[in-house]
Amino acid sequence: MKIIMLGAPGAGKGTQAKMIADKYGVPHVSTGDIFRANIKNGTELGMEAKKYMDQGLLVPDELTVKILLDRVAQEDCRNGYVLDGFPRTIPQAEVLDKALSDLGDKIDYAIDVDVPDENIIQRMSGRRACIACGATYHIEHVPPKTEGICDRCGKELVLRDDDKPETVKNRLDVYHKQTQPLIEFYTGKGILKSVDGTQDMKDVFASICKILG
Ligand code: ADP
Ligand code: AMP
Repeated sequence: MKIIMLGAPGAGKGTQAKMIADKYGVPHVSTGDIFRANIKNGTELGMEAKKYMDQGLLVPDELTVKILLDRVAQEDCRNGYVLDGFPRTIPQAEVLDKALSDLGDKIDYAIDVDVPDENIIQRMSGRRACIACGATYHIEHVPPKTEGICDRCGKELVLRDDDKPETVKNRLDVYHKQTQPLIEFYTGKGILKSVDGTQDMKDVFASICKILG
């Protein structure tokens, strides 16, 4: 099963992608997590990506596409994956489509987690992330057991630099201009499914499971 998660930054793509990955036994592939791991390790790729991420801009397609195609070519992705944060532009979607069709393959579902802009800023300012293991919390909706500490690995939780309100606004603008057109792209392919992302996260997941079967 190959799934794409669509939706504004902070809509809950990562939250739902992790739940899908657990239930259906496929890897959760997040380009944002890959970039953040590279930034943490001080790689050249990380330093390049950071320039864009800190401003709320997209990392250029050439860089992003290569990273993603390398990742999904790995053995654990053979039976499927859930992509979170990729594609984010029409050219990225086209490259993915072509790479898959060259292998006689395709994406099964593009799931749009729909959340209006008004809810996004609140979601992002409350998000806390573990830089060590990638787990995500929300200070009101999904608090960790001990404030500021990751339940899973015990490391410190941080407010991502790009979750500060002034950057979130840029990210939303970028989303509307560059990423939202993908909804039409996948509607045209007959695989777009929309879920109401303002529901409680368990209900969002139930809506997704109904689609995936
Ligand atoms: P994305 O991957 O789309 O950027 P996240 O999954 O990281 O979004 O979610 C953004 C923030 O909102 C996180 O702090 C997360 O815990 C919280 N969140 C996710 N889904 C819901 C929901 N259905 N209701 C309330 N808060 C949510
Ligand atoms: P995310 O963790 O998905 O919210 O991504 C964080 C940031 O990483 C984005 O705001 C972009 O700067 C960058 N990024 C992640 N995925 C992509 C992508 N597919 N294309 C371009 N930039 C990306």
